[in-house]
Amino acid sequence: MSTPSLKKPAFKELGLSQPLLSALAELGYETPTPIQEQSIPILLNGDDILAQAQTGTGKTAAFALPILSHLNIKSNKPQALVIAPTRELAIQVSEAFQSYARNIKGFHVTPIYGGQDYNIQLRALKRGAQVIVGTPGRVMDHLRRKTLDLSTLKTIVLDEADEMLKMGFIDDIEWILEQIPKEHQTALFSATLPLSIQKIAKRYLNKPQKVHIKPKEMTVNAIEQFYTLAANNQKLDVLTRLLEVEDIQAAIIFTRTKNSSAELSERLQARGHAAAALNGDMSQSLREKVITKLKKGSLDIIVATDVAARGIDVERVSHVINYDIPHDTESYIHRIGRTGRAGRKGKAILLITHREKRLLDDIEHAVHTSIKQLAPPSLQEMSEKRSKELAEKVINIIDKSKRLKPHYKMVEDIMQHSGCEAQDVAAALAYLIQQSNPLPENEIEVARTNGRHDRKPAPKRRSKSFGESRGRGNDRKKPGRKTAQPSNARKTRVKKKEPVKKRARRK
Ligand code: AMP
Repeated sequence: MSTPSLKKPAFKELGLSQPLLSALAELGYETPTPIQEQSIPILLNGDDILAQAQTGTGKTAAFALPILSHLNIKSNKPQALVIAPTRELAIQVSEAFQSYARNIKGFHVTPIYGGQDYNIQLRALKRGAQVIVGTPGRVMDHLRRKTLDLSTLKTIVLDEADEMLKMGFIDDIEWILEQIPKEHQTALFSATLPLSIQKIAKRYLNKPQKVHIKPKEMTVNAIEQFYTLAANNQKLDVLTRLLEVEDIQAAIIFTRTKNSSAELSERLQARGHAAAALNGDMSQSLREKVITKLKKGSLDIIVATDVAARGIDVERVSHVINYDIPHDTESYIHRIGRTGRAGRKGKAILLITHREKRLLDDIEHAVHTSIKQLAPPSLQEMSEKRSKELAEKVINIIDKSKRLKPHYKMVEDIMQHSGCEAQDVAAALAYLIQQSNPLPENEIEVARTNGRHDRKPAPKRRSKSFGESRGRGNDRKKPGRKTAQPSNARKTRVKKKEPVKKRARRK
């Protein structure tokens, strides 16, 4: 498979201020994502924008960084308003502003959303904030009560506009848009652009620049592709289980930032894996050393960022695990192409949160394949894998029986003293060995991270445990895998999924 080029500009070429550039370096961001690369110059230029972007593409920084670049920090009156469909997103966006503005003294952002005590929000609004992030209902309430004054507003962002449309917020948004000063910049971000969003854009946006990152398409036949749903706080657990259960020769695990590649590799080392980080903070010679170790087998896992892993060609990489979903389909194709080298088979597993599922649809279209869901390994599966490995080790030792001579006496002594059979002694020894590495206590629940908005609470969904979901998946035979006794858990880990339908081209 040929590797697509990943030449990207640096953040400093986009015209962002120095405090922002240092914050991005501290956060470990290496390069702008495609949506950032295109949107930041437009917004810095003061133009309106109509951007088609999913969660996970880096869209928050695409609007937050230009807003922060333009703020008058001496005033604490609202200068930017971001409207988001759910309280979770509002909080997430506020936190993103806060972290990008870590080196801007006097910056304040206030989230206002339904479900939170008004007094907390009133106090925060009174104290003053340059950026307000709110859900539509609550923003309307504050405007009506005159506890939010938008007369100084310069920029308004409609984040996830299609979600707001689905939730019936469009009238509220139009009402809010009527309340703000005539002179302002508008940024509309939406995963899809249905007619009603286009109508809003036509009515309220002033000669908007359109941004849509067209997915690069490519077929990647030698690579089996899967995704596993995991909430952010479950990812490490899911990953360590996958590393235990999958037949991995060597793996490349991808993270979004330099910082998380370093952190994750340390955590894996602490769990006994021969792992190392590979990121843009490391010198070229250090990076080459790491890759040589992976080639020679003294390392089995590298935790890499996109930039550092560019062009790696190591035949023994059997797995690519996307710990963080890439920001665009081109990066996905590049990442998974690190396995399936030299005519071998490879396996790619993508960990995603519920919110990132739309990006998965884009990826499926780009690779012309339906990516199958893989349930996180169950306790039964882990236990079977451990038993199988122990059995292999035992058989191996029996084959080299010379080493066992001194131990026969010990077994005979135990049998004599206890009156037990040899089988009982062997089982007790196996129990002791397995006790030294106990299985985790609980099954992992399938992640559900749907947000709730400030009007109707999201319908309660019962989360499925793996035990419940098992049995629905289709059978799957893994090429080249020797299994004396087929495992139930293994048979049902892959879940059925609809084939990818041809979608209408987006405008
Ligand atoms: P978003 O699409 O805004 O929800 O962003 C998805 C994730 O990507 C967030 O965790 C961000 O912190 C992260 N992120 C955004 N831009 C970059 C970048 N240029 N490099 C690395 N990570 C990023």
